[in-house]
Parts: sequence; structure tokens; C-alpha cells
Amino acid sequence: MDYIKKLPKIELHCHLDGSLPRATIEELLGREVEDSELSVSEDCKSLTEYLQKFDLPLSALTSYAAFKKAAKDFVLSLQADNTIYAEVRFAPLLSVNANLKLRDIMEAVIEGLKEGKALTGIYVGLIACAMRHHEPEKSLRMFSEIRDYLGFGLNALDLAGDESKYPMSLFMDLFKKAKCMGYPFTIHAGECRDVRNVLLSVEAGALRIGHGIALSGQSDAIKLCKDKGIGIEMCPISNLQTKAVDDIKAYPLKEFLEAGLSVTVNTDNRTVSNSTMEKELEFVANEFALGEDVIKKLMINAANLAFADDNIKHNLLNKIL
Ligand SMILES: [Zn+2]
Repeated sequence: MDYIKKLPKIELHCHLDGSLPRATIEELLGREVEDSELSVSEDCKSLTEYLQKFDLPLSALTSYAAFKKAAKDFVLSLQADNTIYAEVRFAPLLSVNANLKLRDIMEAVIEGLKEGKALTGIYVGLIACAMRHHEPEKSLRMFSEIRDYLGFGLNALDLAGDESKYPMSLFMDLFKKAKCMGYPFTIHAGECRDVRNVLLSVEAGALRIGHGIALSGQSDAIKLCKDKGIGIEMCPISNLQTKAVDDIKAYPLKEFLEAGLSVTVNTDNRTVSNSTMEKELEFVANEFALGEDVIKKLMINAANLAFADDNIKHNLLNKIL
């Protein structure tokens, strides 16, 4: 659809490791890679199978130079689908080792994003993810150590990882402390059919929810999110691949839009899901017969929900409207 191609796009939910361009991975690894190593196949059966695809990009991100290049190349890749603003997230603690310190990783990514922005004019915010399988104490130490980057390259925090094994109840204290430290945050919740994780995330102070599929059919929880203006970062193609819903007919995008939730549409992982913002928007426009006004509304929602200052939001809205 021509109007989708031309539409300036905003993406709020995108993982750096799952979105590295093929050429970047090949250069960092020093070898060619197969499609099947990069992306899930049509018949991906589960989140577990989906998550296996992150081993390859993570194995390429082992130095300051690699992180900087990855971040810069990621920004350059956004030009292809006319993305004008993106927030990219990653879990720095997954790559810390004796030779690579947390602050070096943060600085490499911030520097790479800055270089990418200078070359393209695309503004990219950064979100640091805590991992569910890490002790909350360890994540709290990370939040303290990187606090001085907030507003200086770092925009917000997130919680990612296996939601079914590590429910939100384990992280209430961590995120209440993050809030006291002045961090805004989003939380992956309701990807695995348990609405309690969404409710607890909102209670802890999350301004946005990653996925939020479990809100489907939960009118009280939907009302709470609507009243509080919580952003819902939906990732349709990824959600179908990981079997967060069995079938596109069960996908609650239209239900959430009709209920008045602040819905956004995102790729989650451009490379692992073999997706772009253009593909995601074409997909939902076709599947749910959404008109141009609704597709535009998704972008307006994203501009309003961005973890960015009012000047940037204002600029984005000007470009979309
Ligand atoms: Zn995600």
C-alpha cells in the first residue's frame, strides 16, 4: 500500500540483538550466515524456539567496537522503511564479562546511535532491559550504575525474558526502586496469557506494556490501562510466531483499539522476525481492514508515548500529521 510506504513511522518496541542487519552480523562474525540462522521459519512453534535465534547475534556482540557498529548499522537500516524515530532496547548484562564492562557497553551503544543519527537524522532512543532470569539485586545494581546516562543517551528501562517462569510479582520492589531513581519504564507483560503481570506492571509504575496480549477479554484491566493512558506495544508478526496467540483471528488489536487503549504497532525484532514497520502495518491493515486514519493513529499514539522530550514529540507529530 502506497500510503504505508510513504508514512513516516515510529517504532517503540525493537530489540537491538534481534534486529541487527545481516551484513553487520556477517562482518562481525567474519562469515556468511544462512537465512535459517537469522530468522525464525514460517512454522516457528514457540517462544523458546524463537529465543534460540538470539544466540547468533549475541555471539557477535563481544567488544566495544562490535556494539558501536551494531548500534550505528541498526540506525542506518531504519531508513529502508521510512522510520523517523525508534526506541531500541537491549540487555547489557547479557554481554558483560571480564573484558567488557557494563559502562563500556552502554557507551559503545550510545556512541553508535549518535553516529547513526548524525548520518541519517533519525532519532533513536535507548532502553536498557533487566532480564527476568537475573536476580533482582543484580538488575538493581545495573540500574544504579547506569543512572547517570539517563537523559544522556539512555531514555528508559524495561524488563524482558521468560514471563511464565518469572512473574512480575518477583520484580515489584525492583521497579518501585527504579521509579524512585527517576527512571521511566516499559515492561514486557501479558505476552504469556497472564493478565496479573500486566496489572502488577502498571501498579509498579510502568508507563507502557510490551505486548499486553493477556488484556484480551479483561474489561476491568483494559479500563485501568485506558484510564491511566498506558501505552500498549503490540508486535503482531512476532506474537504470531511465538504463538502468543494461536491464530490471527484471536489477535486482540481491533479489540484494544475499539476499547480506546493507546495501541502502537512494532516489529519486536526486525531480523529474527524478518519484519519491518512497513510489513507490520501492511499486515494489520490487511488482516483487520484498518483504514489510513487508523494506521496514522497508531503512529500518533507512538509519538505521544515515546520516552522522549516534548520537543522531539512535537517534531514527530508535525511529520506524521
Ligand atoms: Zn520484546
